[in-house]
Amino acid sequence: MSKRPPPDSLKTDTLGIRTGELPTEAGAHSEVLYLTSSFVFRDAAEAAARFSGDEPGNIYSRFTNPTVQAFEQRLAAMEGGERCVAFASGMASITATFMALMEPGEHIVSSRGIFGTTVVLYEKYLKKFGIETTMVDLADMEQWRRAIRPETRFLFVETPSNPLVELCDIRALADLAHEHGAQLIVDNCFCTPVLQKPFELGADLVIHSATKYLDGQGRCVGGAVIGPGETMDELHGFLRTTGASMSPFNAWVFLKGLETLPLRMRAHSVHAMELASWLVDQPGVEKVYYAGLEDHPQHELARTQQKGFGGVLSFLVRDSDGRADRQAAWRFIDATRLVSITANLGDAKTTITHPASTTHGRVPDEEKRRAGIAENLVRVAVGLEDPADIREDMARGVAALGHK
Ligand SMILES: *Cc1c(COP(=O)(O)O)cnc(C)c1O
Repeated sequence: MSKRPPPDSLKTDTLGIRTGELPTEAGAHSEVLYLTSSFVFRDAAEAAARFSGDEPGNIYSRFTNPTVQAFEQRLAAMEGGERCVAFASGMASITATFMALMEPGEHIVSSRGIFGTTVVLYEKYLKKFGIETTMVDLADMEQWRRAIRPETRFLFVETPSNPLVELCDIRALADLAHEHGAQLIVDNCFCTPVLQKPFELGADLVIHSATKYLDGQGRCVGGAVIGPGETMDELHGFLRTTGASMSPFNAWVFLKGLETLPLRMRAHSVHAMELASWLVDQPGVEKVYYAGLEDHPQHELARTQQKGFGGVLSFLVRDSDGRADRQAAWRFIDATRLVSITANLGDAKTTITHPASTTHGRVPDEEKRRAGIAENLVRVAVGLEDPADIREDMARGVAALGHK
């Protein structure tokens, strides 16, 4: 069924609903899930033409699949990037980016306190192939500058950071990368294109774990890279060969997730702001990390660089015996009854976790200290339940600290 041409210059919310629609003969309104491993050809000549690349079209779902392509088009449009390649997970996207685009002897400068598995990738696997990484504090531009070498190929940053929600000035970092002939990669998992547009600030590549907010309901694992066409051709070639392709079913879930992403991100931000403001005044809560709070050191940067402060916050606790340790944090967490005790985030369901013993459990103590992952730190990824119910549950945690 032919489709009327869409109007030009649509806004992000509209792009998330109207890009990559998949018209069918039957006129299905919702995008179709092409749950198929391979595609059939009219005749032998068509098969040959597809395989040789003389004729575009689908062959096999490890290479391309219409539902996966619809997701890629929609996410690329929302990010304002040229092209997107989807992967089986966020880690597959990060691994593919480095493996496909780098040579032995090249170097990465990366912010400290990024997603823990990315650190394992640097230390255990990339190193083995002759790629070295230097870790720096993400907010300290001087450290980034000093870490750059002639062989530096990429700067890699996750902003805001997990779990302390520190920010990095993306434009300044992109300028620094370009000054030295390097490129900037932004892991935009925490903000999504709804709250932050790294390309508008000069980033070269954007990476996502679709598992988090893009899905939004904790169902599927997936990832994506967005960037210029030629670079994405390289990544797609790598994907076709190494096989970490996104399942069409997962792509369909993410595709539909993008339609509600703007609404959800704004609600996550409102609910997190409410909880952060309330936590600040609670006995036994010593410090709240949330960029929406005016005393956050990068509150101003967050206001200009982001369109919202996001759904993740963290805080330090101390019990009435004066203990500011793991026991106090666990006491708080174990007293909750509504929120889920799990390390995942980006879900409609609020989650609570103790970073020092879960997400950052394998990080050596010295590195934990440098990254500010204290034993009495609790992280909450605020969901979409009624904020009053979330607050009431957190009050159980506060009460468990035993202050009068
Ligand atoms: C979860 C996460 C990843 C890894 O994604 P997977 O889909 O679990 O492989 C990468 N970066 C960030 C910031 C994440 O939160």
